Amino acid sequence: MSISSNIEHLRSSLPSGVSLLAISKYQPIEALREAYDAGQRMFGENHIQEMAAKASVLPCDIEWHFTGHVQTNKIKYMAPFVSLIHAVDSFRLLREIDKHAAKHDRVIDCLLQIHIAQEDTKYGFTIDECRTMLATEPWRELRHVRITGLMAMGSNTDDMEQVRSEFRQMKVFFDELRSTHFADEPPFCQLSEGMTDDYPIAIEEGSTIVRIGSMIFGERQYK
Ligand SMILES: *Cc1c(COP(=O)(O)O)cnc(C)c1O
Repeated sequence: MSISSNIEHLRSSLPSGVSLLAISKYQPIEALREAYDAGQRMFGENHIQEMAAKASVLPCDIEWHFTGHVQTNKIKYMAPFVSLIHAVDSFRLLREIDKHAAKHDRVIDCLLQIHIAQEDTKYGFTIDECRTMLATEPWRELRHVRITGLMAMGSNTDDMEQVRSEFRQMKVFFDELRSTHFADEPPFCQLSEGMTDDYPIAIEEGSTIVRIGSMIFGERQYK
């Protein structure tokens, strides 16, 4: 299967209201170009410098999403152009992103990463930490970031009922925030979850952005 047919196949199977983010980390420029030529415009990368290097040579109508763990000393490299940062997991990070966005006179959209998986190596707020952050920190005062939803990774397991229950928990929390802290903020509407192995379940459980890498591009090309 080619990259373009993978994209076409995926796109035709996604319900309306669900966007396809092509995760292109460790893929060479030619692979991204092939996806672009098949109409793909949203790409996600996990390393800031790799994303900046790719953005500098590919067409400028691409939306670049950053899906990796954000190191504060590298925010400056993506602040001029990133469209959505998926994995914000502290108020401190939100404040740093705000500071860099201000220098470019931009408002950067961010998702709060929630830790729902069973592995303890993954980043993210627990649901309680996220509630506490939203209730106690002055995030509304940050003029150059906008919180537009939540992001999560399901457990890396064959137990799909486990993964489903995690995504279900996410949807409940997402709805809670939509009726409390974000009740007057319609832009808070994105739930980023679902990868190659679990995206159909994520969609059934309310995902609005699926992040798919290997199913589009095959094995990652380099590390
Ligand atoms: C690598 C990655 C993906 C894509 O994973 P695949 O299994 O290749 O689809 C999605 N989200 C994040 C955060 C990733 O790091």
